Amino acid sequence: MAGNMTEDSNGRNHERAHASAKLPHVTRRGFTVMGLACGLLGLGGVSLARAANAIAVSGVRLGGNAQSTRLVLDLAAAPTHANFNLADPYRIVFDFSELDWQVASEQMPRPTGLIKSLRAGLFRPGTYRLVLDLGAPAEVSRTMVLPPQSGFGWRFVADLTPTSRESFMARVVTGNDGIVQPAKTVEPAVTDRQRRSAGPKPVVIIDPGHGGVDPGAIGVGGVYEKHITLAMAQQLKRRLEQTGRYQVTLTRDRDIFIPLRERVAIARRAKGDLFISLHADSHPNANTRGLSIYTLSEKSSDREAASLAEKENKADIIAGMDFSEESPEVTGILIDLAQRESMNLSAQFASLAVGELDRKVQTLDNTHRFAGFAVLKAPDIPSVLLEMGYLSNPTEVRLLQQAAYRDKMADSMTHAVDRYFDQTQSALRP
Ligand code: ZN
Repeated sequence: MAGNMTEDSNGRNHERAHASAKLPHVTRRGFTVMGLACGLLGLGGVSLARAANAIAVSGVRLGGNAQSTRLVLDLAAAPTHANFNLADPYRIVFDFSELDWQVASEQMPRPTGLIKSLRAGLFRPGTYRLVLDLGAPAEVSRTMVLPPQSGFGWRFVADLTPTSRESFMARVVTGNDGIVQPAKTVEPAVTDRQRRSAGPKPVVIIDPGHGGVDPGAIGVGGVYEKHITLAMAQQLKRRLEQTGRYQVTLTRDRDIFIPLRERVAIARRAKGDLFISLHADSHPNANTRGLSIYTLSEKSSDREAASLAEKENKADIIAGMDFSEESPEVTGILIDLAQRESMNLSAQFASLAVGELDRKVQTLDNTHRFAGFAVLKAPDIPSVLLEMGYLSNPTEVRLLQQAAYRDKMADSMTHAVDRYFDQTQSALRP
């Protein structure tokens, strides 16, 4: 840090790092941070609701080395902040009052010193989260909120120094780390009387993967999976509602983090009859493309399916979540009879969806696959996970950003939902 940024002990400070962009260890590229406006990504129809009092963040800088690493945020006002540790992998989590992140991904600094990577995003309404991934235990030796001075605006400064695993663990927060306000808990807005007169409409839950602090896969050109999944979810919701046959609930309707178990809980609270989780993958081989659809199985259909499930199940780790009080429903779920029935229905829906989608968009061989996705583990709701394509493929990433292409998928999915409920509801009729 020496010679990079300095503060004297009476709180007056002179921060020189960003006055000198030439410093080799304060660079500005190659990072994953979420918070890009969707407009930049060409995803029409996605609304990013932002709290009116969110504080703008215009810059992020890292400096220093493995003995001392400094993080600086440039802000429009002073935020509230708190931090805690999470272990295995080592992470330091900062929770701020709501921020309006205006730093584009290409303006993000490179990993520096103790910080391997960093992510930021809305964690829940009112809380904006910054997660630092560490290669080794480190501690926050000091934080400061500095008032505007010498041409700089408000700054948040955090200094990190190495520490032992033992003292890192002493600051690990266990238990509920303040989760879980779902974006919206949409209970079916139908009274019993309405139900009797109109007949109950099946409830379809659409789950746009990732969000907020968890971007999901990052595609060619920097597009984030979380934005594509939300855009598709909103189109599919509209399309399903147009039929007049369904009530549709989204697990999130804005760019916000929702834990995997909470997605399942939202579906159960809304008494979902069918759960559709939307994702898009990336692959080391840029030529790989095609849509696939997954249903739950303890045994994955192939190695690739297993590693995909592992990737998607990491969403909570990416967002800086603590698992110590994870409900057994999600971690060590028992496949009971109810779930076996759900799995059969899930497979039935998946094969209908494959039949519809196969005619309209490019699919992978063995389009219907099996793997242990955490988000598919509602024991009583038939659930599928749709991987819409590969963001690592230049053609597919372009298509997935087009509303017209997503409409084609939404159309096919709607036909599949129609056929699924035609089949299952007629089976229930006396
Ligand atoms: Zn995903």
